[in-house]
Amino acid sequence: MPSERERIVIIGAGASGLPIASQIRKETKEKDITVITTGTHIAYSPCALPFVLHGVIPDFESCIMKTPADYEAVGITVLTQTTVESIDLETEKLETTAGVIPYDTLVIATGSYPFMPPIPGVDAEGVCVLKTMEAAQQIAEGLESVMNAVSVGAGVIGLEVGSALMARGVNVPVVELLPYVLPLILDPDMAQLVHNHLLDIGARVICGAAVSEVLTDEAGKVRGVVVADEEIPCQMVLMSTGVRPSTKLAKDAGIETGSSGGIVTDSSLHVKVGREYLPNVYASGDCVEVIKDFTYQRTISPLGTSAYRLARVVADNIMGRNSYLLPFTSPNVCVVGQLQVGSVGLTTHTAKSSGIQTTSRVGSGPSAARYYPKRHVITSKLIVDNSRRIVGGQIISDGSGVKCRIDTLSVAMASKMRVDDFAHVETCYAPPVSALVDPLTLTAQSFFDVC
Ligand SMILES: Cc1cc2nc3c(=O)[nH]c(=O)nc-3n(C[C@H](O)[C@H](O)[C@H](O)COP(=O)(O)OP(=O)(O)OC[C@H]3O[C@@H](n4cnc5c(N)ncnc54)[C@H](O)[C@@H]3O)c2cc1C
Repeated sequence: MPSERERIVIIGAGASGLPIASQIRKETKEKDITVITTGTHIAYSPCALPFVLHGVIPDFESCIMKTPADYEAVGITVLTQTTVESIDLETEKLETTAGVIPYDTLVIATGSYPFMPPIPGVDAEGVCVLKTMEAAQQIAEGLESVMNAVSVGAGVIGLEVGSALMARGVNVPVVELLPYVLPLILDPDMAQLVHNHLLDIGARVICGAAVSEVLTDEAGKVRGVVVADEEIPCQMVLMSTGVRPSTKLAKDAGIETGSSGGIVTDSSLHVKVGREYLPNVYASGDCVEVIKDFTYQRTISPLGTSAYRLARVVADNIMGRNSYLLPFTSPNVCVVGQLQVGSVGLTTHTAKSSGIQTTSRVGSGPSAARYYPKRHVITSKLIVDNSRRIVGGQIISDGSGVKCRIDTLSVAMASKMRVDDFAHVETCYAPPVSALVDPLTLTAQSFFDVC
């Protein structure tokens, strides 16, 4: 028999689980809320970890925004260092390391785990993955005795961590399997700007090659990696080779996962068992399969912003509002050395592999009036389909100004705006913060140019 007060149990105290708890508590005191996590620290930003390693954020504690006691104070129970071992959907109970926990409403927000390529030596001491604060603390301690590290994977995390370590004086070659850096978010021409910047800050960048082995000494510690036929000596290997959705718990309970590996849900984020969507079990965050805008492919969107967006939909539905999810363009931004790099929607490659024909334009302009002393160069690429709808955008700046423009494109793409209309959008101007015509508008206008 259900208790009088609805018992909401959330597995996961990350960027998706905790906002669900907080939002429900803001709206009602009439529900019991328990959040369970294997972690020790909660409510910290994993996104901040590269910047602690860099030194720009002074210490790990600065990234912790709330403690379990802060949640207790508003009536949310947080069980840390507790693992959910199984979910029984029949009896509506969880088997955990802290005992059996019953629920009326369950949210699975178990996040993702790092993918480790199956290469010899990958388990050696000195091979690190930046995923949690505990892992980042270990990397920071290890760095005391490291002069040479290798960053495997030139995605967002690989480049953020690699450039953070370079700023601390560590020599960090970057190795990427695909032919260019940031291959999931940029086209090759835009990636070349990032590549050049990495060379400018002293990095060696090896693209189109795999690390085939991690070499160890007699004590089992990392002493180098093999790339193609070359041995690169190092004392630390940073693996940033992507993430996979953490779905074992859900799968073991009979919950369906999809072709992306993420948990299948309806648009209100109810999970699926057999042919039914369960009305009282939701999934949220990195572990969920979402739909990519324009291609309608199934994918995961492992971003803090996506985790929060999913969380709002789950909280709305638990509170009885009929909220649903629209497809994802996954706008993102990162900092590599002195560059800001952002993208949204499809790259030329992802569009082509889904059979969408595109054309694109690249343009550059200043972030402030040409005569203003402090300004940056904003380079933008717009990708449009045959009907001239904007389906993707990529922006790089040698200073600031990327986030606001990626967000603008995100709004334009959500309303399926054509580049012809985007070229006429009103923008604001004052010499210290913009040129009269925004660099992004100039790129949109260039679609009319014939020579
Ligand atoms: C280094 C780094 C930098 C990043 N930078 C950015 C960025 O700049 N911008 C951005 O948008 N995103 C960024 N991200 C991605 C972002 O952090 C994630 O997308 C987001 O944290 C996902 O939230 P989540 O709640 O789904 O999962 P998580 O935050 O990973 O939380 C998962 C939770 O589930 C718990 N859990 C899992 N299994 C169990 C179990 N069996 N029992 C109990 N608890 C369990 C874990 O303990 C954890 O509390 C970054 C990630 C990393 C690692």
